[in-house]
Parts: sequence; structure tokens; C-alpha cells
Amino acid sequence: MAVHQIRSVVRPATLEEAWECRRSEPGASRFLAGGIDLVLYVPPTVSTLIDLSCLGIDAVRQEGSDVVMGAMATLTEVLESPLVGEFAGGFLRDVLRRVASPLQRNVATLGGAVVRAHPWSDVIPALLVLDAQLDVFDGRRSTVELSEVRARSESPSPLVLTVRLPGASCDGRGAFEKFARTGFDVGVLNCACFAIIERGLCRTARVAVGGTPSVARRLPRVEETLVGKPLSASQIALAAQTAAGVVDVRDDRRATAEYRRVLTAVGVRRCLENLAGLGSEVKE
Ligand SMILES: Cc1cc2nc3c(=O)[nH]c(=O)nc-3n(C[C@H](O)[C@H](O)[C@H](O)COP(=O)(O)OP(=O)(O)OC[C@H]3O[C@@H](n4cnc5c(N)ncnc54)[C@H](O)[C@@H]3O)c2cc1C
Repeated sequence: MAVHQIRSVVRPATLEEAWECRRSEPGASRFLAGGIDLVLYVPPTVSTLIDLSCLGIDAVRQEGSDVVMGAMATLTEVLESPLVGEFAGGFLRDVLRRVASPLQRNVATLGGAVVRAHPWSDVIPALLVLDAQLDVFDGRRSTVELSEVRARSESPSPLVLTVRLPGASCDGRGAFEKFARTGFDVGVLNCACFAIIERGLCRTARVAVGGTPSVARRLPRVEETLVGKPLSASQIALAAQTAAGVVDVRDDRRATAEYRRVLTAVGVRRCLENLAGLGSEVKE
């Protein structure tokens, strides 16, 4: 059993204070959100937890045409927000209903899910296909692409303030497939697709596959096969086949690479069929 060395928990009231605590002790401190991930493994070097609960970054609000979700909002608060329910046909709400169990969703925060970015995260592929951005603070505020934050390697990584759903995605529809052994288990593979369809043709198409077993990535080659085309049976079959060809899969204890390749084709096909026929329905 891991032994932790926590000596203090601080609760800053300003972003500047929170960042200074983190920056001055990068190896010995961690931000604390819901804590469901952090309590499972606190690195032995960490002696200070920086509780983010007094920073006022937990609201879900509209900003222009964007929906802006506070990093400290729990997954339950996000999925119950009417703004999220109305965005892209409630796609993100439906995906979050499939994350872990209700009790865990009552504690886990959106910011924690984004920063921890488990390889099997269901949240990351959903946010990737919605083209989500993050408002972050590292001494100054900036807005960055979700993929950009995950690619950064500097320590400490910035404090995430909000996850922003750009208004441009509001009129699209999303679909999600998760292959897992039980309803509460983490997935063996997951897949999210999003499309904006105009006059029967895909104006925008985004496809992300996760749990490969790496964290979700978009598949631009698959998206290219869809843009400007109708979501016909033959086009969907081509996209599914392309996805199986380009997805970067590996073996791990949950599944073989070959099985994951098959699941990728099935997941992409099901998502696109869902978008073609049933809008944003997600199977429970
Ligand atoms: C048992 C279990 C089952 C799960 N099942 C699923 C599942 O089915 N699908 C799925 O997608 N996910 C699943 N998860 C992942 C879950 O969504 C995340 O663990 C959770 O959202 C983390 O949020 P938290 O608030 O508890 O983060 P914490 O544990 O508090 O923090 C996690 C990490 O993020 C950092 N951090 C937190 N907030 C911020 C911030 N605002 N800015 C910068 N850094 C920050 C912390 O320093 C820490 O390193 C599961 C997790 C557990 C423990």
C-alpha cells in the first residue's frame, strides 16, 4: 500500500495564490479537486495539497454562444446543467451518464477528468469531437485547445479554470460508443463521432477513438472521408474500414490490438449510423 507524506492542505482564495503554491513546489504539491483519482495514488514526494474549492470555478454558464463549464463542476453538475443538455442535442450529457457510477460522478470534477486524462477516459473523446477548449491560468490567463494541454510536458502544468464548448458545435449532433465489461467498468475502447449535416451532406465531421489503450485521439483520415459526403451506408462502411486501418492500437491486459481494431470499426459504424438515423441518441 502506498504511503503518503501529506503534511498540509491549503485552500487559496485567488488564482494567483493557487498558482504560486503550485509553482513554488512543483514536485511537492498537487492541485486537489474531487480527489477520487488523487487519493488512489499520491506520489510519495507530495506533501502539500492545494484545494481548488474556493476559487469560484465551478459554475456552468453561457458566454456569447459558448457554453463554459467550470473545472470544479462535478460530472453530475455538468450533466444536469440545462445548458449542457441543450448543446449539440445533449451529446455531452449522454456521454457523462456513462462515466463510472452516480456516486463517483457526484465527486469527480470535469477539470480532474480533463487533466488526469486516463487512457480509457470517456470524457476526453467527447470533448475532442466537440472541439473543446480550455481556459487555463499559469500566472496569466489563456485559452488553449484541449489537445494542446495534453501534449504539454512542462511541470507544473497550468491550472485549468474552465472547459469551453464553442458555439460553432452547438448545432451538430454527437454519438458515443463504449465497449466495457459492465455498466460501471472503464472501457476496453471507446469512440465518439460528431457531425454537422447541411442539405444531407456532412459540413463538419469529427471522429475520436480512445482506450486504444492510449488516450483518445482524433482520426483526421476518417474525418476526411466524411466531409462533403452524405452519411450513406456505403460512406459509413468506408469510414469504419478507414478507422480500423489507421487507428493506433496495442495489446494490454484488457484486450488485444486486433480486438481493438475490430471494435474501432464497429464503434465508428454504430456512431455514424446513429447520427444518420437517430440524431444524438446514446445507448445506455
Ligand atoms: C473508480 C473510478 C472509476 C472511473 N470510471 C471512469 C469511467 O468510466 N469513465 C471515465 O471517463 N472516467 C472514469 N474515471 C475517471 C474520473 O472521471 C476521474 O478520475 C475524475 O474525473 C477525476 O476528477 P477529480 O475531481 O476527482 O480529480 P482529482 O483526483 O482531484 O485530480 C486528478 C488530477 O488532476 C489534477 N487536477 C484536478 N483539477 C485540476 C485543475 N482544475 N487544474 C489542474 N489540475 C487539476 C490533480 O492535481 C490531479 O493530478 C474513474 C475514476 C475512478 C477513480
